[in-house]
Formats: sequence, structure tokens, C-alpha cells
Amino acid sequence: MMWQLYKEISGNLILTFYFAQAPQQNVKNINKHAVLDLIRFTPGGISRAGIAKVIGLSRAAVSTIVNDLIEVGIIRDAEQRTKTSGRPRMLLEINPNAGYIVGIDMGASHIRILLSNFGAETIAEKEMGFKIADGPDACITQANTLLEDILRENDLDLSMLAAIGIGVPGPIDSDAGMVIAPPIMPGWDRFPIRDTLSALWGRPVSVNNDAELGALGEWAYGAGRGARDLAYIKVGTGIGAGLLIDGRIYRGATGSAGEIGHLTMDNDGPLCTCGNRGCLEAFSGGNAIAKQAMQAVHSAKRTRLALNDLGEISAKDVAIAAQHGDLVAQQIMAQAGGHLGVAIAGLVNIFNPDIIVVGGGVAQIGDLFLEPVRREVMRRSLPAAANNVRITTAVLGKRSSSLGAVVQALSLAIYDVAEGKYVLKNESVEVA
Ligand SMILES: [Zn+2]
Repeated sequence: MMWQLYKEISGNLILTFYFAQAPQQNVKNINKHAVLDLIRFTPGGISRAGIAKVIGLSRAAVSTIVNDLIEVGIIRDAEQRTKTSGRPRMLLEINPNAGYIVGIDMGASHIRILLSNFGAETIAEKEMGFKIADGPDACITQANTLLEDILRENDLDLSMLAAIGIGVPGPIDSDAGMVIAPPIMPGWDRFPIRDTLSALWGRPVSVNNDAELGALGEWAYGAGRGARDLAYIKVGTGIGAGLLIDGRIYRGATGSAGEIGHLTMDNDGPLCTCGNRGCLEAFSGGNAIAKQAMQAVHSAKRTRLALNDLGEISAKDVAIAAQHGDLVAQQIMAQAGGHLGVAIAGLVNIFNPDIIVVGGGVAQIGDLFLEPVRREVMRRSLPAAANNVRITTAVLGKRSSSLGAVVQALSLAIYDVAEGKYVLKNESVEVA
């Protein structure tokens, strides 16, 4: 029998229709996952009738599945929303009070943690300075302290978390739960991140690439809702891309697809962290922006950045100066944006996306950085692709990746509950 299924990617079900032979014993769970995903990710919500139509099951079959899921407490009827005419639609929703999960984004220079309920609503969040280059021992100690703090401050303990999602800035072997030869993560090569953390915390852990999580976060809750072909470009200390192609996260053969930061822009350009010369990251990454600002100050250019200690200027300082009208800082940001635009023009030519979401710390400055990107894409991509693509900043701001980690953690938790592997014990969850 041919079934219309959803494709599972690293524990996260992305709405992808394809036809395959489903093993009979899994069909029930596959249908439950499909129903849960439609409830989680359909923009504007979905009713029982809507689910039946999309999945192609009978209304009765959908009712059985929905009743099972209501029974275990994972979904509920949403408040009735009346349309201007006709009968009210009874929408379903994930029961936000079903439990707690945590998403942690370990970046090159910051760590962010979100405590959420099952409705992916943020209950609490924290961000602090962090150096992924300090290696696993120091970083895990810091992440653990942050997790203990946020739990204590909200009167929770580890046993009350259904799952934890982690993002890291390196190429992932998702089956093994580790990074392979990451350019900016010294000491982490093949370190068993997922297994170490799930042993430490005693909870299910999902580990993914941060840019990929950014794509997922923006697709689920941000600028890319409902998009089928989306690229999320994370511009922070380094630069990476998460690709959603035809509705699925695309990782490539060995998990390193989307490493746009190491696209060669100039054979003889500045040295990159990866050891090559002239990579995009060496022109437009946070470190490159800071370095250019230091050079400008050193060569006695007229800029308010000269008020900073030389050697301590960050990309954030440059962005703030640019927003305050500093011409030198604006030129540095515009050049960085221009180089990024050249690289993105190539991406647009190759992969013809609907939407490019530019996120990460550097992109928070907005149009000062994004306008040069748009200009280069319009100039260099083929019109058929360039005229169609929308280039926008991340709606979720600096939280795209941590919300992607929340999506992944929720996938682990929600499917476990639906399959009876995890029993809900929290009666109610307060959202601040
Ligand atoms: Zn490089």
C-alpha cells in the first residue's frame, strides 16, 4: 500500500510528502507524528477536518488518532475562533501545559538557553559570554551551570524536563551526536556531545548544527513559516548556512552542507580560521569586521571607534558605531554585507530559494548590512531566481537557533509522549 508520509530527520519530522512502503507496525506512530506535526507547524492552526484532507485519511481514522493524543494529554482543543461567516473551526493545539523542555545554543562567543513549555512558549531565557574554543570540559561545565541556574530560578529540576536540544557551530554527524573536524571548535572533533550530555543530565538530548537550527526556528516560528525552500545564513563570529530544500533540512553526504563561510571569495585574500585564504568568513564574519575596524583605528581614520581600546573592538562595537552615523563603521559593515551578497548570489543561482533569512549577532544591525546584500544578489543572480527571492532579517533575532533547539527537543519529547515512552507528570506549567 502506498502511504503519504512525513520524512523524519534527526528526530524532527519535517512536513514532507513522499510515497513509500511503510512497515505495518509503524504506521500508527507515523500517522500520530504526522498529525502532531500538522498541529505544531500549520500556520494559523488546523482542525480535524483539515488534518484528514492533508493526510488523506478518513475523518474517522483522524478522530481515533486525535482522541488517543488528547487522552495522553499531548494535544487539546484550542479556544474556538469564529470566522466572519459560517461555522466556527475547531482547531487543535499542542497542550502547552504538558511539560517543559530546554533549548541551548552554544555559539562561538555566546551561549543562550531557553526554558519553554510544550507550546514552545518561552518561560525564561539567559544569555552570557562563552567561548566554544575553550573545549568540551569548560563549555559543558558552563552550560551545566546555566541549566542549573535557570531550573532553580523557576523552581524546576532536571527530572521535570522532557528533553534538551543543543546547537553547536560545527558540521554534525547526527547519528553519532558529535561534530567532525569543526573549523572553530578546537578540542571537539569527534567528542561524544550528545552521549556525554544525556549521561550528565539523564534526559534525552538532541545535538544539531546551529545554522541548521536557525533555519528550523525561522521556518517553524519566524520569517520562513510555510516556506519550502529556505536558506538561513547565520552571521556571527563565523558564518554558516542552514538549508531547507523542498521542505526538508538538507545536510549533504556527511553533514557539512551549508558551510558557506568557507566559500572562496579571493584566492589570495585574508587568512581564514579554516587555514585557507580568502573565505567569506575572513571578509564578513564578526572577527573579520572587528579586525577591519582595528586597522581603521590604527591607520588614524576619523571614527568614534578610536575611543575603544585597540584590540578590544568587537563586531558589536562596529555595528553600534554604524547605527550612530559613524561613516567608517558604516563602510566596514557595508563592505561585509557586499561580500556576503556575492556569496548569497551564488547560493541563489544554485538553489533558487523562496526566502533567505539572515540572522546571527552581526545581522541584528538590519538594513545597513542587508541592503548591500540585496544589491549584490540583484546584480549577480539570474533574474528568474533573483526576482523571486525575499531577503530578510531573522524575525526571531538572536534566538533563531535556540528556538530551533526547542523545536528539536519538542520533537523528541512529543513523539515519546505520543508513543507512550514518556509519561507526563506536570499538571500545569505557568508561562511568565
Ligand atoms: Zn575558511
